[in-house]
Amino acid sequence: MPGIDLHAHTIYSDGTFTPAEAVALAAERGLSVLSISDHDSTEGVAEAKGAAARAGVEIVPGVELSTVHEGGPVHLLCYWPDLGDEELQGELRRLREDRWTRGQRMVEKLQGFGYPITFERVREIARGKNIGRPHIAEALVEAGVVPELKDAFSDELIGTGGRAYVEKHALASLDALALVKRAHRIAVLAHPGLRWRGEQPVPDELIERMAEAGLDGLEVDHPDHDATARVRYREMARRLGLVATGSSDCHGTRYDPVRMGSETTDPEEFARLKSRRGL
Ligand code: AMP
Ligand code: MN
Ligand code: MN
Ligand code: MN
Repeated sequence: MPGIDLHAHTIYSDGTFTPAEAVALAAERGLSVLSISDHDSTEGVAEAKGAAARAGVEIVPGVELSTVHEGGPVHLLCYWPDLGDEELQGELRRLREDRWTRGQRMVEKLQGFGYPITFERVREIARGKNIGRPHIAEALVEAGVVPELKDAFSDELIGTGGRAYVEKHALASLDALALVKRAHRIAVLAHPGLRWRGEQPVPDELIERMAEAGLDGLEVDHPDHDATARVRYREMARRLGLVATGSSDCHGTRYDPVRMGSETTDPEEFARLKSRRGL
């Protein structure tokens, strides 16, 4: 069965692999299809495509949009975006610029509380690219403030709503979906059941409204979904006529073990997703 992994990050957001390294690992693990879907950036797609042609892997270009609904984060995957779409790229640029200043503000807050980290080091960890909390978390680990990355996501530090947390600019979930559908692209709701510390799953009511507004799929199989969540979301996808996808959400070595290919999409579901491109 061909391995189809529809969600992976690179150094263009909070992954640790370059796009070429991600593609090489996908090939090594026998994947036939890999989506490069960084947070708020399509910058890794072109490089991945170049490497993929040589490795015999099909790249599904993607981007994981930061959106918000009633104060809670909702991640929306847009597949096969038009990389030259000015409306989309303008929005992505705004999201990235805000991530930069927000990163700076979180570091200032942490410094104010006496934690010895610098924005310069955070920028280095992010390799000068799109900044996310995992990069700040890594700086905190390096500085000996916390033993592991996940420990930085606390009330005291940069957990959502935590003492040094700063909100990021994000699109309203339904507006983000409208943006994707206006451009006739494919939209899949990422990890609807993921509960990071203190956060709630995406409300079912929002999923239903999104389905009515043209959502194409639900990421049913995800490393952070337990068996119960998978059964629930598979059933919901069936009921709402959505494609059920499966993806590793690989962040390279940032979360171990390296997840690439650990969750995959059924080839028939992938074919359905592709066929919706013509709608
Ligand atoms: P940001 O988009 O900058 O707010 O950072 C969110 C990213 O941090 C997510 O995409 C995850 O990769 C990571 N993350 C969020 N919460 C946690 C957590 N509790 N433990 C580990 N990583 C987390
Ligand atoms: Mn991430
Ligand atoms: Mn996500
Ligand atoms: Mn992701």
